[in-house]
Amino acid sequence: MKVLLIGSGAREHALGWALSKSPVLTQLYCAPGNPGLAEIGECVALDVDGYEDIVAFCREETIDLVVVGPEAPLVAGLGDALEAAGIRVFGPSKAAAQLEGSKRFTKDLCAEAGIPTADYAAFDTAEAARAHLKERALPVVIKADGLAAGKGVAVAKTQHEAEAAIDACFSGAFGQAGAQVVIEDCLQGEEASFFAIVDGETVLPLVAAQDHKRAFDGDTGPNTGGMGAYSPAKIMSPAMCDRVMDEIITPTVKAMAARATPYRGVLYAGLMITADGPRLIEYNVRFGDPEAQVLMMRLQSDLLPVLLAACDGRLHEADIAWRAETALTVVMATRGYPGAYEKGSEIRGVEDAAGMADVEVFHAGTKREGGKLIASGGRVLSVTALGKTVREAHARAYEAVSRIDWPAGFYRQDIGWRDVVRETA
Ligand code: ATP
Repeated sequence: MKVLLIGSGAREHALGWALSKSPVLTQLYCAPGNPGLAEIGECVALDVDGYEDIVAFCREETIDLVVVGPEAPLVAGLGDALEAAGIRVFGPSKAAAQLEGSKRFTKDLCAEAGIPTADYAAFDTAEAARAHLKERALPVVIKADGLAAGKGVAVAKTQHEAEAAIDACFSGAFGQAGAQVVIEDCLQGEEASFFAIVDGETVLPLVAAQDHKRAFDGDTGPNTGGMGAYSPAKIMSPAMCDRVMDEIITPTVKAMAARATPYRGVLYAGLMITADGPRLIEYNVRFGDPEAQVLMMRLQSDLLPVLLAACDGRLHEADIAWRAETALTVVMATRGYPGAYEKGSEIRGVEDAAGMADVEVFHAGTKREGGKLIASGGRVLSVTALGKTVREAHARAYEAVSRIDWPAGFYRQDIGWRDVVRETA
């Protein structure tokens, strides 16, 4: 079976690593891939924004399955282009990818299907949004409707901050993504991520994780793409996972099917676990990064047949098993990230770290230059370990991190702190 994996981050390296263990796999191609993926597959320089390139490659190489890592190509319609060409793709259609591509779409769907989420209102002018603000209690959450690379959301504590966020949204800074604004109540609780695979009808629950979005220890500093994650997360007990399935995921999948836009792919629910139960913050239409790294580390089953079953509407036949251990990943990023940073520093010691038992080092912003490993992005490596407990996974991951010699990098020291505290209590 020949697979083409789209993307270049640590998420895609983790997915590729899981796929490469499948006895059914004969060839893994990655577009564009990264040096980690180059060790397990063949990286091909395709224009991932131009569907013709991808479709032509798939035909030439008789690709059996395309796995799309990031959201942008899905929201733009890559899934539809592949399907129209008769190529099997794991990932939703453009219409179904609206679950991530438009916050208003998802909020309206939640209202219609009775899915618990923060109360909201949506506006297409700054004046209307500002007028509405006067009726809301603070803090309030202001969101650009479309994809804004994590920068389109502001949790505003004051009227001034809220107005500034509305103005920023309509300023054109987010392009078409800012044509509408969603204003929501601010939920209180602990955040968690829950994942499921869907074939349009059947839902296969995966597992939950927690990530750390802030750049620095103690969950301080600016928001990032994610500085680390761990799974399982103790707050997502089996009973809580059941509630999320019954109250959030299953009604969503039914509502999408009822609208004749069935959802197929991985559905990632960003949740707030409040005193009143789980509330949906947002949907993503792909695996999380860094959550995919810990999910793939815990995955015991062969991933490839599960993805194929989802594509072929046979998910009811699929089964999935997980290691009971905790997986924890520490993201190493270039100093300055998520702001400006310099590229080109050398990284040493990755082989030493990756050689440890129960450790995998997933690549993101790296490149090879004359045998040297060079940092070429913000988030650069995801150092991932398994352990019988969170503390053990934490200790192992940081032992691996300590073997990596990269003075231009930084990382958080406290990944998993919530569950380390719970485990110690
Ligand atoms: P990302 O790309 O980081 O996932 P996003 O731009 O898709 O973000 P959301 O996930 O909807 O946006 O929001 C980003 C963050 O803002 C959430 O992880 C959460 O911390 C906070 N947030 C969003 N909505 C709410 C809410 N209603 N109440 C409290 N916090 C919220």
